Amino acid sequence: MFTKTFRGGVHIKDMKFLSKDKQIKEYLPKGDLVYLMNQNIGAPGVPCVSAGERVLVGQKIADAGGFVSVPVLSSVSGTVKSVAAKECHNGDTALAVTVSNDGLYEKIQGFGEYRDYKELTKEQIIEIVKDAGIVGMGGAGFPTHVKLAVKPGTKIDYVICNGAECEPYITCDYRLMLEAPEKAVLGMKMVLSLFDGAKGIFGIESNKPDGIARVSEACRGEENISVVPLKRKYPQGGERVMITALTKRRINSKMLPADAGCVVLNFSTLTAIADAVAYNKPLIHRIVTVTGDAINEPSNLDVLLGTNVEELVEAAGGLKYDPEKIIFGGPMMGAAVYSLDVPVNKVTSCVLLLKNNMAVPEAHECIRCGRCLQVCPEHLMPIKLKNTADANDYAEFEKLNGLECIGCGCCTYICPAKRRLSQSITAAKQFVIAEKKKAANKK
Ligand code: SF4
Ligand code: SF4
Repeated sequence: MFTKTFRGGVHIKDMKFLSKDKQIKEYLPKGDLVYLMNQNIGAPGVPCVSAGERVLVGQKIADAGGFVSVPVLSSVSGTVKSVAAKECHNGDTALAVTVSNDGLYEKIQGFGEYRDYKELTKEQIIEIVKDAGIVGMGGAGFPTHVKLAVKPGTKIDYVICNGAECEPYITCDYRLMLEAPEKAVLGMKMVLSLFDGAKGIFGIESNKPDGIARVSEACRGEENISVVPLKRKYPQGGERVMITALTKRRINSKMLPADAGCVVLNFSTLTAIADAVAYNKPLIHRIVTVTGDAINEPSNLDVLLGTNVEELVEAAGGLKYDPEKIIFGGPMMGAAVYSLDVPVNKVTSCVLLLKNNMAVPEAHECIRCGRCLQVCPEHLMPIKLKNTADANDYAEFEKLNGLECIGCGCCTYICPAKRRLSQSITAAKQFVIAEKKKAANKK
C-alpha cells in the first residue's frame, strides 16, 4: 500500500488490539448528567436555564459565550438540579448545569427530522453546525463553525478528514469508520458544498486497512473525494503534519489551516455534522473508548454527553486492577486525571486505565545522539529548547522557535538519556504565551 507521511515522528506500539474489534455499544446513563460549560476552546458557555426547570433532549441549556464558543444542549429530558461550579477532570472547577434524568428521553420538536442539505444555503449550514454545539471531537474542542466560516476571499482547496487516530489505544473513530462510514462521507459532502471547487480527502493510517476499505466503499462515485492511506507513525494525526503529509503545504503556529487552503476535521466531527444538518440532531452523544490493562472489558461505548465516567468503567466490566494511572485521551498527549467522578464531555475520546504506571526513569546527561532532532515533526532542536527553558531564557527560547512545538512528546519518547524534553518545552511555551496575553491585556 502506497502511504504518505511527514518527516520525523516515532513508531509506538499502538495497543489498539484491546478494543479495536469491540462493536460500538449504546450506554444509557443511570445517574445525573453534568454539563460543564468549558467543553470548547474559546469562551465558555453561559447557562440559560435555572434550577427546577424541565428540559428536553436537544434543548439548549447554555448559550455560546462568544463567536469562538458553542452552545451546550441537554442529552436527556428531566429537571435542572443545579447551576453551580463542578470539578473537571484536570482538577479545575467550571460552571456546570446538572440535570436529573427522568428516563423518558422526550425530545424537542423537530429532533431527528430529515432535511436535504442541498436545499440549505452555506450560511444556514454553518449556523446549524454552530447551534448544534459542534466542536473538534479529536481532543482540541475548537468550535467547528469557526473553521467553516473562513475569511471572505480565502480559497479552500482541500477539506481534510483526519482519520489517523494515531494515539495508541484509541479506537472510537476506527469503529465509526467500520460501522457508519457513510455518515462521515455525508458530512464531508456537506462541508465541501461550502467551498467551491474544493476536494475532500480522508487521511487514514495504514494500520486500519478495513477502515480504509469501508470509507473507500462509502465514497464510491464521489469524484471529488478520495481516501489516502497514511503511514502508521505518531503524530500522524497532528493537524499540521496531516496537512503537510497530504498536500505538501506547511503551516506554523501563527497560521490557520485555511491560510494553507485547508480545512481539517476529525472523523467523529464530520459524523456529528451529518447528524446535525441532515437529521436535526445536535451534538449530545459521542463514542468513547474505555480501555487499558486495568479494565475487564475494553469497549467502545456510545455515550450521552454529561454521563459520569465512573458509569463507563462499570459498563466496561469494571476494574480488573486498581489503576495506577488514568488518562483522558491517549498516553502521548492525553491528560492524567485523579478522579473518575467527572462527566464525559465533547472531547472525551478515550478513558485509559493503566495498571502499570512505569516509574519515571532517572534522567541522565545528554549524549548528543541527535535522535530528538530527527523525530521532531516541527524540525525543532528539542535539546537546545530544553536548555533555554531550564535556564528561563525565554527570549532565546522564542528565537529557537519554541512556540512552534506541538507538544507531541516524540523527543522525550525517543531520548535514550530519558531527558524530559517535551515537558520542559511545553512548560516554557505555556509561560511565554501567558506572558504575551498579560502584556496584550495591559495595552
Ligand atoms: S520539540 Fe515539541 S514538537 Fe518537537 S518532538 Fe518535542 S514535543 Fe514534539
Ligand atoms: S535524544 Fe536525548 S541524549 Fe540524544 S541529543 Fe536529544 S536530548 Fe541528547
